[in-house]
Amino acid sequence: MNDIIVAKFGGSSLADANQFQKVKKIVLGDERRRYIVPSAPGKRHDKDYKITDLFYLCHAHVQQGISFDEVFKIIEERYKQIASELNVTLDIGVYLREVKRKIAEGATADYTASRGEYLNGLILADFLGVEFIDASEAILFSRYGYLDSEGTKKAIKDKLKNVKKAVIPGFYGAMPNGEIKTFSRGGSDITGSLIARDMEASLYENWTDVSGFLMADPRIVDNPKPIEKISYKELRELAYMGATVLHEEAIFPAREGGIPINIKNTNAPRDRGTIIVKDNGDKDLGNITGIAGRKDFTVIAIEKAFMNAEIGFGRKVLSVLETYGVSFENMPSGIDTISIVVEDSQIEGKLDKVIEEIKRQCNPDAIQIIPNMALIATVGRGMARTVGTSQKIFTSLAKNNVNVRMIDQGSSEMNIIIGVEAKDFEKAINAIYHAFA
Ligand code: ASP
Repeated sequence: MNDIIVAKFGGSSLADANQFQKVKKIVLGDERRRYIVPSAPGKRHDKDYKITDLFYLCHAHVQQGISFDEVFKIIEERYKQIASELNVTLDIGVYLREVKRKIAEGATADYTASRGEYLNGLILADFLGVEFIDASEAILFSRYGYLDSEGTKKAIKDKLKNVKKAVIPGFYGAMPNGEIKTFSRGGSDITGSLIARDMEASLYENWTDVSGFLMADPRIVDNPKPIEKISYKELRELAYMGATVLHEEAIFPAREGGIPINIKNTNAPRDRGTIIVKDNGDKDLGNITGIAGRKDFTVIAIEKAFMNAEIGFGRKVLSVLETYGVSFENMPSGIDTISIVVEDSQIEGKLDKVIEEIKRQCNPDAIQIIPNMALIATVGRGMARTVGTSQKIFTSLAKNNVNVRMIDQGSSEMNIIIGVEAKDFEKAINAIYHAFA
C-alpha cells in the first residue's frame, strides 16, 4: 500500500467558487491527497439545477430537434461564473464552445452528460495548479460498454505513476474506439474507487455534504447518531435497503484492494465522518450499526402439507417466477410454508398469472397474498458474536405494538430482516433504533 489518498468531491462540494475554495483548502491540507476526482457542479440550493441533468436535457432537445440554446446558456453561465470568480488562467469559453458544437452535431447522451465532469475537472486542475488527466485515457470500457477492469488498472497505473498530483474527472471513460461511456448516475464515486484500488492508495476519501452515514434515516428518526465505522458488507446491506450516500458499485474496487473509504463533509471537514473498512472481527459487540428499510413489497405465502419432504417444491415455485421474469428479495421458509417477498414493481400486472401458474404447477394447499408490506433490515457485524440482539429488537417492536409479519435472519448473521405492514414502517424503525441508541 502507498501513502496516497484519493479524494473524490461530489457535486455539492463543487457547486460554486466558494465550494472550490473549500476543496482547495482540503486538498492542500494533506500532502498525501494526490489524486482528485471531481463530479459536475451540483445544486447550490434546493431549487437549483444539477449540471449533469441540464446536459442530459440538452441531448434530449437535440434528439427532438428543439433548440438547446437556453439550457446550454445556464450551463455556460455556471462554469463561467466559477472560472471568473476563481481567476483561473484557462479560457473555459473555448472548451464550452467546442462542447456545444459537438452536442449540436448529435453527440451521444454519454458524451454530453460526461462534459459536466470534464469541464469541472479542467477548472479544478487549473485552480489547484495540478495536472489534468482526461478520464477517457484512464477509465476503460469494453466495446460492449462494460468496465474493462484490467485495462483500467493498467491505464491508471501508466498515466498516474509519474504524476505527483492530478485531477481526473469522475463518471466517465472511453471504449476502445474512443467513444465516451459513462457509469450509471452518481458514478464519479466509482472512478475514485478504481483509482484508489489501482494506485494502491491507503485511503479513499469521498467528500460530500453530510458527515457520513447515520444509523437511520433522519426523515424517520429524530436526530439519529452517526455511524463512525461500518464494514463493506454491512454497507452493502444497508445500501441495498435504501440508505444512500455512496454509489453502491463504488464499494467493490476499494474492497478488492482492501482500501478504507472515508465519507467526509466538505462543509465540516473536521468531522470524522464514516469510515468503511473490512470486518476485522473487532469487538464492537452489543450494538447495531444501522437500520434501513423500504416499502412497496408483496409477500406470496404458500402452504402445503409435507412440503418439507417434497423434493423440488421450491425449485418449481421459483421457476414460475423465472418464467415471468420476476426477481424476488427474500424467501423465508417454515416446515410447510414458504414465503416469497417481491418488490411491487416486479410483480405489477403479473401477479394473477404467477399465482395461477404456482397453483397449477405446485398444487399448494393455500396461497395468501399479503400486499403493502415493508421490509426493515437491522444490520450489525457484532450480531453474530452477541447474544440478545434479536430479543432487543422484538421486545421493542412488541412494546410499540408493531405486528411482525415475517422474520428472516441472513446466514451471515449480520442482519435481521423483518416484514411489517407499510403503515407500521416508521413506527417500527423508531422502535428498533431506540432499543439500541
Ligand atoms: N454527475 C454525475 C451525476 O449526476 C455523476 C456523479 O455526480 O457522480 O450522476
